[in-house]
Amino acid sequence: MTLLRLNPRASGEFQVVSLETGRVLQEGQTLSCCHCQRTWAVRPGSGRQRGWCLRCNAPTCGGPACLTCLPWERQMEIMERRAGLRRAVTE
Ligand SMILES: [Zn+2]
Ligand SMILES: [Zn+2]
Repeated sequence: MTLLRLNPRASGEFQVVSLETGRVLQEGQTLSCCHCQRTWAVRPGSGRQRGWCLRCNAPTCGGPACLTCLPWERQMEIMERRAGLRRAVTE
């Protein structure tokens, strides 16, 4: 397995650096959705509509599930609670 490090830069660009070789594997501009953690490359002029959550003050992917503010931590909480319930039922 290759260990990677993400170096965010002030401009919004990132570098993916291999921890083994120290080499830069990839760099570019991406944003990640503050709700589902999806990451996409930013291409100016691509015309893709992306959202912006005023509550998180962070970009969203613009997907229907991400239009309402449900931060990732909250989703994990819900999933964990659901998993816990399922366990309680099957045991
Ligand atoms: Zn999203
Ligand atoms: Zn939000």
